[in-house]
Amino acid sequence: AKSQQRGGHFTFSRGMGVEIRERVRMMHALRGGLERGELFLAYQPQVDLATRRPFGAEALLRWRTADGQHVPPDRFIPIAEHSGLIVEIGAWVLREACAELMRIRAAGQLDFTMSVNVSQAQFRHPQFMEVLRSALLDTGAPARYLELEITESMAMEEPQQLVEMLAQVKRTGVSIAIDDFGTGFSSLSHLQGLNVDRLKIDRTFVTEITGSARGSSIAAMVIQLGRNLGLSVIAEGVEDERQAQILHALGCPLAQGYLFARPLSPQALLEWLGGQQD
Ligand code: C2E
Ligand code: CA
Ligand code: CA
Ligand code: CA
Repeated sequence: AKSQQRGGHFTFSRGMGVEIRERVRMMHALRGGLERGELFLAYQPQVDLATRRPFGAEALLRWRTADGQHVPPDRFIPIAEHSGLIVEIGAWVLREACAELMRIRAAGQLDFTMSVNVSQAQFRHPQFMEVLRSALLDTGAPARYLELEITESMAMEEPQQLVEMLAQVKRTGVSIAIDDFGTGFSSLSHLQGLNVDRLKIDRTFVTEITGSARGSSIAAMVIQLGRNLGLSVIAEGVEDERQAQILHALGCPLAQGYLFARPLSPQALLEWLGGQQD
């Protein structure tokens, strides 16, 4: 790569050139992958901590390239976000998750909630409400069984616009969870102003929970915050029984994690749900 220097301040290093080319390459591959149907969703069950009964699932995006390689979402989603491709991908995810919700309902699970991750760029796109409404309308999915997960960092920005967007979403009957909660710095007063339904305790705080009394303090705080504000709380990334028991003792009502189930294919989810029934 050619090295550039402007007034001695900016150096375009060889390594950076490679990295940018790699990102551009991946963006094109992802666009092609979307068109070729290489994207699909996995569904991770969410359970009631007291009864261990499933009540819903989170849709998680997967990409298997034509040569059989799995690209982790943490690698391709940031690229989709930067390139704007996430708007199109996110619309597909919403529709597909709603369609899956309808298949789950057709299998007899009528009280089942589908959670869908929504990126900042997707949520703030002027057509977002239209995309959401048509996903519901075209699939017939009932709005009250759909939940959108927005990240805490996203909830912290441009409050006016966000409050208005959340109000529009809530008017459709769709609910909102704040994902990765505890990693940002939402104040109580800020949260009160946002019309959200659920807080999702980030995995890092669930991991720390068994370490020490201090380790569990953030999880305990989020659970208490949820209770004070009348919000539902779910813990993510629950991997072992001790974590589940401590969370339950702290008053956390809901959980998700490898202890209960990994993200599953649609068929595996239905089989798993069948096996959970008494
Ligand atoms: P997230 O929303 O925080 O999703 C939870 C991640 O934790 C998922 O990783 C899930 O597979 C993983 N996980 C669940 N239980 C456990 C556990 O017990 N232990 C551990 N170690 N991990 C667990 P995944 O599927 O790789 O997704 C990574 C991130 O990619 C997600 O984090 C989310 O931010 C993003 N993402 C996934 N699907 C979508 C999507 O459709 N749209 C958008 N915008 N982002 C998505
Ligand atoms: Ca999530
Ligand atoms: Ca999360
Ligand atoms: Ca997380």
